[in-house]
Amino acid sequence: MKALITGGAGFIGSHLAEALLGRGDEVMIVDDLSTGRFENIEHLTSNQNFHFAIETITNETVMDRLVSECDIIFHLAAAVGVELIVHSPVRTIETNIIGTRAVLQVANRYRKKVIIASTSEVYGKAVTVPFKEDDDRLMGPTTKSRWSYATSKAVDEFLALAYWKEKHLPTVVVRFFNTVGPRQTGQYGMVVPRFVTQALKGEPITVYGDGQQSRCFTHVSDTVRAVLLLSDHPEAVGQVFNVGSSEEITILGLAQKVKHLLGSDSEIVFIPYDEAYEEGFEDMRRRVPDTTKIRKLTGWTPRYSLDDTIIAVAEHIRKQLEGDESVQA
Ligand code: UDP
Repeated sequence: MKALITGGAGFIGSHLAEALLGRGDEVMIVDDLSTGRFENIEHLTSNQNFHFAIETITNETVMDRLVSECDIIFHLAAAVGVELIVHSPVRTIETNIIGTRAVLQVANRYRKKVIIASTSEVYGKAVTVPFKEDDDRLMGPTTKSRWSYATSKAVDEFLALAYWKEKHLPTVVVRFFNTVGPRQTGQYGMVVPRFVTQALKGEPITVYGDGQQSRCFTHVSDTVRAVLLLSDHPEAVGQVFNVGSSEEITILGLAQKVKHLLGSDSEIVFIPYDEAYEEGFEDMRRRVPDTTKIRKLTGWTPRYSLDDTIIAVAEHIRKQLEGDESVQA
């Protein structure tokens, strides 16, 4: 099989590329390196089944050729990271909506299956956890830019499902819940690489708000395995699936765990949301997936514990720090 991964030089995309190559598939990635990094894929470039194009997904000529040559598209290119989203809302909305539209249009031209990466953000401020795929969503106001991310990804989902419903283009929507692992950077706000870097450098661990908000962190290898199972399953088409761990932890609990696991002397400090993001910032209190649907269809359950994940992230960041002391939390 020949797979095209948009956003393939990103954190999740690069792990997906590795997994596909590992099972003998040919992989083409397209990435504009806006948040993706060449270092994420450098080790793959010697593999003769690996090809890359440093290009934006809205370049029609390039996408037309790439899509015509592939068997399946994994659409992962998107604006990600709450900090990036709050500070660059135009880029977020345009990248997510215009980019996905471009991918689906070309995919439809050549009738190629598309796996769309979505996010647990689409549930918004809903409070009844665990979240099921068909649950109602609760968005904050349009004056708070955080919600532009959830809304833009929800439009992507609508569009993907509409292409299936109206044009019978096979699409699958996968909602990722806080995927973490080696190669994720803390640069765009992601909490695990941030806390790990802070702990390793002996800097204060920055807990936003009261730290009682909770998340379920999912190892990227579990996420990638779920994506592959869904992409291979004919009955997944036209549907939405949650992918996430069921191990819920508060952010303060995460800070304590990271500190303990890494034997760090860092102090834990609390930073108000207004200071961390922007005035009036709204967070989600709890975010827990119901993964019954993917489990019933494919048998998928997560294999990695949060401890395993933190240790894997720390190993990666430790190596980076050894090579470059300027790595920022
Ligand atoms: N967070 C934190 N300190 C940081 C970065 C993030 O306390 O240095 C919090 C953030 O406010 C959120 C949680 O950690 O409540 C998860 O943030 P992340 O950006 O990783 O993912 P999100 O779940 O917001 O998409």
